[in-house]
Order: sequence, then C-alpha cells, then structure tokens
Amino acid sequence: MAKIVIALGGNALGNTPAEQLELVTETAKPIVDLIEQGNQVVIAHGNGPQVGMINLGMATAAEEGAIKSDMPFPECGAMSQGYIGYHLQNAIGNELVHRKMNKEVVTVVTQVLVDENDAAFSNPTKPVGAFYDKATAEKISAEKGYTMVEDAGRGFRRVVPSPKPVDVIEKKAVEALIESGCVVVTVGGGGIPVVRKNGKLYGTPAVIDKDFASEKLAELIDADMLIILTAVEKVAVNYNKPDVKWLSSMTPAEAEKYIKEGQFAPGSMLPKVQAAVMFAQSRNGRSSLITSLDKALAAMKGETGTVITA
Ligand code: ADP
Ligand code: MG
Repeated sequence: MAKIVIALGGNALGNTPAEQLELVTETAKPIVDLIEQGNQVVIAHGNGPQVGMINLGMATAAEEGAIKSDMPFPECGAMSQGYIGYHLQNAIGNELVHRKMNKEVVTVVTQVLVDENDAAFSNPTKPVGAFYDKATAEKISAEKGYTMVEDAGRGFRRVVPSPKPVDVIEKKAVEALIESGCVVVTVGGGGIPVVRKNGKLYGTPAVIDKDFASEKLAELIDADMLIILTAVEKVAVNYNKPDVKWLSSMTPAEAEKYIKEGQFAPGSMLPKVQAAVMFAQSRNGRSSLITSLDKALAAMKGETGTVITA
C-alpha cells in the first residue's frame, strides 16, 4: 500500500459545469482503481478555466450593477475548490458505491502559504479575467490597483503573481482525514494563496502552480508517490519534432540536462518535471510519475508513463 498524491490536469475537468460533471465520471475510474488496490489517495487539481469563469462572471455582474461587489481573487479560488471538489466527491463517491467500496470523499478548502517576499510578487505573470481596451484597463488599474498588461494583441488583462508554495495550512486535517480512510481532495488550483503577517493569514491575489502545490503537499503528508496526470502519456524530448523521443524514466540529473536544453514548455510540462524531480529528491524511496489519466493504472504497473526516481 502506498500513499499517493494525484495531481489532475485541465483535461480531467473540462470547461463548463456540464462538461466537467460528465468528464469527472471518467476521471473517477482510474482514481478508484488505485484506491481499490489498497492505496491511500489524495487528489489535487488545477482550476484555470473554473476560477477564470467565476472571476469573470462576478466581475461582469458587478460592472453591470447586478451584484454589490466584485469577488476578490482568493475568494474566487475558494469557490472553485468547492465547485470542483463537489464534482469530484460526487463522481468518485458514485464510482466507490458502484464497486461496493465503503469510503467517503471529502474536499478540504485549502490555504497555501506563500512568502510575501517571493520575487514573483514584483513580477506578476499569470493573466486572469476579461480583456479590456487600453483606456478601460488604465481606469481599472487606477481604481483597483491591478497590474494590467497587453496579452498577445488581444487586449489588456489583469496579471497576478505566481509565487512558490511554502506550506499547506490544513495539512494536519488532510492527514487526519487520510488516516480515517477518507479520499481527500485538497490544494485545488494550487491552493488559496495566503501570506502571514504578525501571526495572521491573509488571502492574496495570486496563482500557485498546481504541480508545485501538489509536490509540497506530497512532502508534507509524507506520501510515497506523486502522480501527475495530464494530456500526454509520457514526457518527451524533442516534443512536437520529427525526432521526438518518449521517456520511460528520468533521473534528476537527466531532467536537469533536458531543462537546460529547454525541452519542456514553461507553464505546462516544465513545472511538472520540476515538481517530479523535487519530490523524487526529497527523500529516499520517493518517486514521481507523469502520465495520462487513462494510462494511470498501466503506468503504476510499469507499462507506460515517465517515472522519475533519484
Ligand atoms: P495540465 O492541465 O495537465 O497542467 P498542461 O497543458 O499545463 O496540462 O501541460 C501538459 C502539456 O505539456 C501536454 O499536453 C503537452 O502538450 C505539453 N508539453 C510541453 N512540452 C512537453 C514535453 N517535452 N513532453 C510532453 N509534453 C509536453
Ligand atoms: Mg498546467
């Protein structure tokens, strides 16, 4: 039996509530396969489209005067954790009942500590929300203090920083739930970013990379394995090129070499490989696996996927 943190990518969830509810029915199956084999499973997930939808919907309604206030970004993140968590609880729960397995699935609204001195705060990079023309962008920037930047010729958008996760505030609760036999959904969307000032936590508008947050969580709860499920079965070098080579395994040293060569796209495969290496190096006996959702079980048997071990 192993303690496994699974990080679900965007392809496991989809873009609308209806699409998501349908997709998670499929997402649940390989997850329950792993549970059925006796593993303790903790689930983390992305939230890009979902938090975008919530943020944009609330901002639009506020601009129209239909609601009294805009929804702050950390609150949007909290809402996305509840929304996605509910769908995962529903789908995984149904699959467990279908297999006559007596387990409960629970979502923990999770805060993740970031350092207010993280260099990311002076260089916000993650675009969120609607596109505006220059004049409107300048007005919003003056009113709300948002950083607005031009996004690939499509207009101006708000950008927020992407700091590194330092700690998972609810880690003990997550551990207690795992120990009691629950399937836990946590650090959704990388967690709600909070900073600590004079002993108090404050939500801050930022986006923590879900692959890094999953890695941090996996270390903190002393997991044996970090499984990053995404749209590709294996990690590749020379990706999208004629001489593409799919990797069955990677050592941290090999990964570093490939990273230096620029083999992994920043913002997509790069953080996954970095998180996988970090976890594999964090303690003896820990390993990481990057594969696709439908290949998770086969990859656990060593038949496919990219395994990273120190
Ligand atoms: P997720 O939502 O799971 O985080 P991303 O789109 O952020 O997914 O990252 C996964 C994607 O990274 C893959 O679908 C693939 O298109 C892309 N990618 C970039 N570089 C590589 C590489 N070297 N090997 C495999 N996939 C890569
Ligand atoms: Mg991603």
